[in-house]
Amino acid sequence: LKIGSFQTESFVDFTKPENVKAYQDALNKVRQELGKTVPLIINGERIFTEEKMTSLNPCDTQEVVGYSAKATTEHAEKALQGAWEAYSWWKNWSMDARARILVKAAKLLRERRHEFNALMTLEAGKNYAEADVETAEAIDFLEYYARQADKYAHPAETYPYPGEENELHWIPLGVGVSISPWNFPLAIFAGMLTAPIVVGNTIIVKPAEDTSLIAAKFIDLLIEAGMPAGVVQFLPGVGEEVGDYLVKHPRTRFITFTGSRSVGLYIHAEAAKVLKGQKWIKRTIMELGGKDALIVDETADLESAAAAAVQSAFGFNGQKCSAMSRLILVDAIHDEVLNKFVERTRALKVGNAEENSNVTAVVNDESFEKIQKYIEIGKTEGKLETGGEADGSKGYFIQPTIFSGVDAQARIAQEEVFGPFVAVIRARDFDHALEIANSTEYGLTGGVFSGVRARLEKARAEFEVGNLYFNRKITGALVGVQPFGGYNMSGTDSKAGGPDYLSNFLQLKTVTERF
Ligand code: GLU
Repeated sequence: LKIGSFQTESFVDFTKPENVKAYQDALNKVRQELGKTVPLIINGERIFTEEKMTSLNPCDTQEVVGYSAKATTEHAEKALQGAWEAYSWWKNWSMDARARILVKAAKLLRERRHEFNALMTLEAGKNYAEADVETAEAIDFLEYYARQADKYAHPAETYPYPGEENELHWIPLGVGVSISPWNFPLAIFAGMLTAPIVVGNTIIVKPAEDTSLIAAKFIDLLIEAGMPAGVVQFLPGVGEEVGDYLVKHPRTRFITFTGSRSVGLYIHAEAAKVLKGQKWIKRTIMELGGKDALIVDETADLESAAAAAVQSAFGFNGQKCSAMSRLILVDAIHDEVLNKFVERTRALKVGNAEENSNVTAVVNDESFEKIQKYIEIGKTEGKLETGGEADGSKGYFIQPTIFSGVDAQARIAQEEVFGPFVAVIRARDFDHALEIANSTEYGLTGGVFSGVRARLEKARAEFEVGNLYFNRKITGALVGVQPFGGYNMSGTDSKAGGPDYLSNFLQLKTVTERF
């Protein structure tokens, strides 16, 4: 592709009144279109089902954002057969031809940025900046994977051998299933489906139940960008039904999943079972949870550390797998940083996403209940410093919550809560802090605020996470700049937005000819 090198998309500046106005205009526009039903799309055919799923505004649960058709296992079967049919010709398209569709989609998304942002505000409860950063990330995935694909159009390197030609070709896997999360309903959804298809696979996408509308909007854009029928089969539905059916199907070649550890491990185990008629070992690509820690020592810039802790913990209400859920403070500065952290947290505005509040409603009833359960557990495991209150009268609002004095092995220091919820842990010194940071089964993101080179170097080598940040917040990885993903129980370290990500969806074939 002759399109120049990759550059991350810049973010909209919401300190400028004209940008705020553009956002609000888009909100009004999107609001006028609420209540629509989005269909399934199988082999290009739009299918409306009798049974529907309802998408609510988490900040105002009286407001129906729209409805989505609900796929059955018969639809899933049809989608799978159709995807194999499409695979027979899609795999033969040139890499460039496939990549051009992504570049075109990026252009369209750039043009409709505020509209996509506004729908995320209404359907997922994202404030302006959180929604906008996400649309920028979706554009980045499209532009980045379009460029990365070229690498796999050419044989990989092998040593020459006399009298022979040896080639090492990349070939696609076949038909996969993408099961994506609601917390990045546009960016992760778009990344998880365009990466496999750009290198020649076809895919069935099952978006998260809570955010089918934003997913449908992106699929429409992809079709407008030239995506042929059958390459992406759009199958909104219930995970336990269609997701389960496809995971257990003998003709599913790979499963790419982002979500909770428990669902991920279930999928991984089911995918390992060989079924009658199955010809391959299914591949799973997993991005799971985290219990991400930020360490602050006595040599750190304490003010910046407290600010970064607030951003890392409460951006999008802590509903990021990268969010800081443990703050580990060394004894010498523990009280000072805790006070600063609590004070800054109390200053956050909790309210409607449409009003661009700092902290908005959590995604759904299930999350709302789960976080409250952890608040109760927290009361027995630590001291409640701030928050702890929930108000479900209008939407799923939970005050940003901080517990201090938490033991490193306590449940609230070990289990992923996925909400505006932080456990503060006291460490004797830096080495102890690092030991605590590494004491969970997860390994996604982590951070250190310190002014001591030797400590940063020790963390660089020993902090067990896929994404490690020094002297800054621990969320907001940029495509191509900070390839994202964790290891240990946080996933298969597949590194979305990284230089090898596309190889997750490829296999290699060595061809030798003797002359
Ligand atoms: N990539 C996002 C970040 O760096 C997090 C993705 C997720 O929550 O799944 O903050």
